[in-house]
Amino acid sequence: MAKWMRVVVPSSQKLRFPSLCPGCLRPEPEASSRLRSERGRLKSFYVVYIKWEYLWVTVPFCKECADRRGRWEKLDMALLFVAVIVSFALAVWFAVSLKLQPWEFWVIFLAVAAILTVLCNRLVRDYRAVRIKHYDDNTLAFVFSRPEYAQEFGRLNGQPALVLGSRS
Ligand SMILES: [Zn+2]
Repeated sequence: MAKWMRVVVPSSQKLRFPSLCPGCLRPEPEASSRLRSERGRLKSFYVVYIKWEYLWVTVPFCKECADRRGRWEKLDMALLFVAVIVSFALAVWFAVSLKLQPWEFWVIFLAVAAILTVLCNRLVRDYRAVRIKHYDDNTLAFVFSRPEYAQEFGRLNGQPALVLGSRS
């Protein structure tokens, strides 16, 4: 599995991307892909309603990698859907065979869904090549699966590229 490298850029800074595809390192990528930050910023919070604000950044990709990202993103959604169905079926099975209370059913459902989502994420995340892990008022944290790209991105933006812990 790829070792992700992390580069943190002040959000006031204008981002500069290397003239390379972050997926395959081909020079002069001709396409681009819109990336959404993985963790949104809590915009407002009401009892029944939480609003998150996400950051979108357009990153240059070669056509092939951009297309692949698009395909995997759809598959990602499908996997998520399957994960929800499977968790629901498992929870029903537990609830029926152990004669559980409705609230116990929901606890099992949510727990299984959470575990499956994390597993699915681990399986398919490498295709992304670039991820925006976090952003706030001051900083933007990018991670890259290609160290060469991360270093070049860091150099262009005047920030060091650091190896991310292998677990993340
Ligand atoms: Zn590419």
